[in-house]
Amino acid sequence: MLHAASASALRERVVSGELRAVDIARSALDQIVGADARIGSFLHVDGEGALAQAAAVDRARAAGETLGPLAGVPIALKDNLCVRGVPATCASKILEGWIAPYDATVVERLRAAGAVIVGKTNMDEFAMGSSNETSAYKLVHNPWDLSRAPGGSSGGSAASVAAGMAPLSLGSDTGGSVRQPAAFCGLVALKPTYGRVSRFGLIAFASSLDQIGPFARDVRDCAIVSEVISGRDPRDATSVDLPVGSYVSELGRDVRGLRVGVVRSTLAEGCEPGVVSAIDASIDTLRRLGCEIVDVALPTAEHAVSAYYIVAPAECSSNLARFDGMRYGPRVESPDLLETYGKTRALFGREVRRRIMLGTYVLSAGYYDAFYAKAQKARTLISRDYAAAFERCDVVLTPTAPSVAFGLGAKTKNPLEMYLADIFTLPPSLAGLPAISVPCGLSDGLPVGLQLTAKAFDEGTLFRVASAFEHATDHHAHRAPGFATASVGGAA
Ligand code: GLN
Repeated sequence: MLHAASASALRERVVSGELRAVDIARSALDQIVGADARIGSFLHVDGEGALAQAAAVDRARAAGETLGPLAGVPIALKDNLCVRGVPATCASKILEGWIAPYDATVVERLRAAGAVIVGKTNMDEFAMGSSNETSAYKLVHNPWDLSRAPGGSSGGSAASVAAGMAPLSLGSDTGGSVRQPAAFCGLVALKPTYGRVSRFGLIAFASSLDQIGPFARDVRDCAIVSEVISGRDPRDATSVDLPVGSYVSELGRDVRGLRVGVVRSTLAEGCEPGVVSAIDASIDTLRRLGCEIVDVALPTAEHAVSAYYIVAPAECSSNLARFDGMRYGPRVESPDLLETYGKTRALFGREVRRRIMLGTYVLSAGYYDAFYAKAQKARTLISRDYAAAFERCDVVLTPTAPSVAFGLGAKTKNPLEMYLADIFTLPPSLAGLPAISVPCGLSDGLPVGLQLTAKAFDEGTLFRVASAFEHATDHHAHRAPGFATASVGGAA
């Protein structure tokens, strides 16, 4: 079955002429029709667009053109990424019916690489959440256990890949939104260094934290798509002009002598026992591979949750001001202008409104110094902790999340409990560092994620360690039961 094949295997078979891109696209679209009623991962499927892109790949091959690194590979995109002529709702009623008038830079790059965009995926509203339950449209069910959350906010992107609807997807990660759902769905996902990937055409949540990152079923696929989307873009002033390097050439490289920093305190605190034992076993695996395991401390990381939930709402309160019924999406008309604004903005869901209010509060005169400025100071201290840790190690190892996928509805009553799901993903986000989540075992039949964090712009080392780890274990080969179909050509 094509839906179990990796992106790299599919591309090879397109290049060799064994498969037509159009047939791969049809197979992905069929799988979406067959599986997504149970999962809920898509908000919009672009069948026509996908078949047209695939046909263009087939024509390019027939004309003898060199095919790109993702030729004929289906990819699903989070619904906060702009694709020209296709809806982008951010899973919010306030953008219902809005059609993006241009392509995000990552979309241009995917097209140039020959990828085939199959649709837009469900998410927490405006990427605010850790379970995908704040979507204004529908729930996403974790393919591993339909009664559980897929993680968030890029839950639809993660679930679509875990259920074989596409070998790749893109999400956005502000405080963990690709890494945590990857952990919950048994996938590999990278949050690149801040500034590595252009944010042009990504609908902003918290601009100093947002980065676009991919989901894949193995490290190679993740490396390929990461390379495609990375690099300087003159349309995003925060994108950095540094060479991207070849992530793929890091795969399979020796890791002997590489220093892995373990933050012991994180394991002790509030982690499920099944997570702790999977992480302990992963540390042993890396030691066996010749890595040097060293203890490191991130003493201020304990303030990451508080700092993030001030900084991110502050930025969102400013970014979301533009959704006022005048420029984008629906308007709830009223004879009075202020009332029009008010009624239109009531289209935002509860979590988004909570954050806008919180953000407005912490930025207001009298509270700015007490909250916002303090949170920014904590952010600096967290960056310094990492700088000190990286004097002693090359990558920092933690769990990606303190638990496996929790039940749908389990944390919706208590926002603070939901925020704590981000405890391990927030410190690298606040410090702007690259971090990857890789599957590292199962606990009660559900996937556990291992998070590795590196120095800024050192994604190469993350891929190197992740690939060595993947080769030494078979964790990535576990598939969601019910969606596990043997692959063709060993391409699972
Ligand atoms: N769960 C975090 C939040 O709700 C992170 C979300 C994200 O990374 N987009 O803000």
